[in-house]
Amino acid sequence: MLARIRSAAVLGIDAYLVDVETDITNGLPSFATVGLPQGAVKEGRERVNAAIANSDFLFPLKRVTVNLAPADIKKDGSAFDLPIALGILAATGQLDGPGGRENGRGTLEEYIVVGELGLEGDLRPVRGALSVAVEAKRAGLRGVIVPEANLAEAGVVRNIETLGARTLGDVAAFFAEGRALARAHVDPAVLFEGARDAGVDFAEVRGQEQAKRALEVAAAGSHNVLMIGPPGSGKTMLARRLPTVLPEMTLEEALETTKVHSVAGMLPAGASLVTHRPFRAPHHTISDAGLIGGGSYPRPGEVSLAHGGVLFLDELPEFRKNVLEVLRQPLEDGSVTIARAATSLCYPARFMLAAAMNPCPCGYYGDANRSCTCGALGVERYLARISGPLLDRIDIHVEVPAVPYRELAAERSGEPSEAMRARVNRARERQLERFAGRPGLYANAHMGPRELRRSCHPTAAADAVLKTALTRLQLSARAYHRVLKIARTIADLAGAARIAPAHVAEAVQYRTLDRSRV
Ligand SMILES: [Zn+2]
Repeated sequence: MLARIRSAAVLGIDAYLVDVETDITNGLPSFATVGLPQGAVKEGRERVNAAIANSDFLFPLKRVTVNLAPADIKKDGSAFDLPIALGILAATGQLDGPGGRENGRGTLEEYIVVGELGLEGDLRPVRGALSVAVEAKRAGLRGVIVPEANLAEAGVVRNIETLGARTLGDVAAFFAEGRALARAHVDPAVLFEGARDAGVDFAEVRGQEQAKRALEVAAAGSHNVLMIGPPGSGKTMLARRLPTVLPEMTLEEALETTKVHSVAGMLPAGASLVTHRPFRAPHHTISDAGLIGGGSYPRPGEVSLAHGGVLFLDELPEFRKNVLEVLRQPLEDGSVTIARAATSLCYPARFMLAAAMNPCPCGYYGDANRSCTCGALGVERYLARISGPLLDRIDIHVEVPAVPYRELAAERSGEPSEAMRARVNRARERQLERFAGRPGLYANAHMGPRELRRSCHPTAAADAVLKTALTRLQLSARAYHRVLKIARTIADLAGAARIAPAHVAEAVQYRTLDRSRV
């Protein structure tokens, strides 16, 4: 007897259909899996065997051959346990029964089935359930059957049947007797409603008005930002609140970010869409594989987990040089490619980079109250640890000084994130209008030299301010373009069509490192 169950494997963040064919013939009892199964799939044989026996079914004492097609792509992960077990039950006639046809339910061929089995026959959550549901819809299938813990996640996909099961027995009863399975009740609108409260808010930050303003400008133009200040000045506190002033996620963004988190196994059981912009803050001891992804069973790295949100690198000069090097591709392309022996994987990685550093190794260079012990050479060496190409991709530098005690003790709270976000949203709308019809370009930070010439028109007075600043600070042509870009964002925040002197003057402030190198 031959049975065919539809399942899916995840490559990158997308799933593709895999047919699980089970053939049972007379002969010495054996159980073989073919079609490039990897470690976890091979081990699955033991789980399938025990789960079938412990669910009051019979494991056949015959030759069992399971083929995963297409055979040329490696399959790993435990999600094939359930379809393999179902295939064995179907091929041995243990799913024969009235089925669901009479009461309008689907047949084996109409669903993608995924799930890891426990030895007792219980179903455990799998990675990538959302991607699997998206694939079921794309393939025109009736629906998906997933472990119940994945139901909220898979249920985000509309107009297909999303069913959740707790045990192998549940799924068998669904196909054999037409017994009902749990259905997803997910309304993305409700999920986004709950996304308003991020748990942190800029209102909690006292003082640091200049840094808050710089972060608002960064958020408005999607500019990468570097904060420079002594320990304890609140750089991490500021960075953590950056996602709260970014525009709310669109459904499309939320779907993509959720896929990444699901594939990485970072989505908590029972979770649905990721509707908050992520904030990732890896420690400076992270490896390059941890940062961009990889490993023997490839998983997305921090740059992909930050997709749609903020990647925060505290103590930037402490990161290893080769680790910072690998940031260049995602910063440029918004994605990372991980080369494998047989194939290469691509993960999305479009994030805003927020970095922080002390002004010198001891942290007190330029401090009014404490003296720095590093010496000029020590400071220079410290700054030189950040490579030029990385620094080139950071538009905004801002100094975050120690907050005087009287400001910290003040009763009044700062401006709330919501008010800042409203201004950011309006500035982003202006940019979307400006870049309409130019694919891949949706914020000022992504402007190349051509767009700069086309979109950034300073008034004559602003041009004069710019020229003076250039000469006095000896800014390079590159720095000039950056100042113009930031000035464009500041003008957008102000609702101005042309760049005025005040916008240029503020933009020059955000090139601290260019200025200090004079
Ligand atoms: Zn120092």
